[in-house]
Amino acid sequence: MPYEEITPALIKVYGKRDGDGISNSSFVILDRKIAIIDAGAKGELWREVIDVIKKHGRDPKKEQSYVLLTHEHPDHFGSAAELKAACKAEIYAHSAAADTLRDPSKLATKHFGVFGESSGVTNRVKSVFSKVTPVNPDTVLGGGEKIDLGLSSLTAIHTGGHCAGHLMYYDDYRRVLFAGDEVLEAPGNPCKYMIDLTGSADRKEIVLKRLLELRIDLLAPSHDSATAGEEVREPINRALDAHEMWKNEVYETVNRLGKASTEEIANSVQQALSLNWSGELKQVAAAVTTAAYLRSLRLKGQVQESEEKKGQKQWTSN
Ligand SMILES: [Zn+2]
Repeated sequence: MPYEEITPALIKVYGKRDGDGISNSSFVILDRKIAIIDAGAKGELWREVIDVIKKHGRDPKKEQSYVLLTHEHPDHFGSAAELKAACKAEIYAHSAAADTLRDPSKLATKHFGVFGESSGVTNRVKSVFSKVTPVNPDTVLGGGEKIDLGLSSLTAIHTGGHCAGHLMYYDDYRRVLFAGDEVLEAPGNPCKYMIDLTGSADRKEIVLKRLLELRIDLLAPSHDSATAGEEVREPINRALDAHEMWKNEVYETVNRLGKASTEEIANSVQQALSLNWSGELKQVAAAVTTAAYLRSLRLKGQVQESEEKKGQKQWTSN
């Protein structure tokens, strides 16, 4: 299924599915101006996006268009440079995402370097991320801006839970929320519930609780299916359940182990939650999420970091 018309003016374009059935996606809004939310992984779905726009009788080379990035992960901005070249779109992203977009080598260290800069895992992750094409945003957002599309407009909402530069876009005319990766909800799959080293478990909780109060007629996340009407609360509540589960499990694990490194705690959480992963990025995804909950528990005074042992911080409960 390369694309799906949610409405004639709102189209979801799908990327390839990975082994766990997760696919990337872009949303295309055909208003008086054209908005493309997220660009997908490198080389993946940008041609399809251009084709879809043309099939609907629009000319992406001549019309004013925007590529609105939800965040600085390569499965969302990997094809932004190609898309910009193909349709002369202006690229929008949050200010906290800009450094990584311009220099994707920061992904392996600043965002995912949980095993230390010189570790084998980090080096293998570096080689995966080294193929990502940098992109320079034309407009840097802080959150709260309205992007006028003609009939409708999109409000940028800064969230900063999943990663520091995460934005959601809210279409206040259709009451559609483009949620990016902030409402990922599958606790048993670390790639479907992840907070990187720049993100915040506490911000994620605040954002998810606020979403329960926002009028949303269609919730459109990047990787999961869209939900409409009364059902939009369900994925938000599942994401909140996953948050509680991670928070409790990380705290109980620190208590049980007595004194342990982030890596030891992450491995133990992996076993306790029966996280089923394959491949290095998934191992890293679970470890960075564990680290996010350790930071949150430290801020609340429930755990503390002690001296470094072999370059690794040691955690104990209070
Ligand atoms: Zn992401």
